[in-house]
Amino acid sequence: MGKRKSSAPPPKKVAPKVDTQFTCPFCNHDKSVVARLDKTSEKGMVECVVCGQRYTCNITHLSEPIDVYSDWIDACERVNAREGEEEEE
Ligand SMILES: [Zn+2]
Repeated sequence: MGKRKSSAPPPKKVAPKVDTQFTCPFCNHDKSVVARLDKTSEKGMVECVVCGQRYTCNITHLSEPIDVYSDWIDACERVNAREGEEEEE
C-alpha cells in the first residue's frame, strides 16, 4: 500500500559533469587534453593544449569524451609497438 513519492531523489549518485580533460600521453601534462564531441557530424576530437598533439575519430551518439581519449591511447600504443619493433627488436 505504498504511495510513490515522486519527489524522492534518485538513489544513484550521478557525477556532476562528464570528464572532458585528460592526461596527455605525449607530454604527460595533467588535464591538458581537451575532448570535443560533435554529435552532429559524428566526429570526436582530442587535443593537447600544451604540446598540440591531436587525434580525431568517428563517434556515435553514445560516445563520450573518455571514449575518444581511450581510442587515442590505443592508437598511440599501436604506433609505439610498431616503432619499438623496428628500433629495438
Ligand atoms: Zn601534450
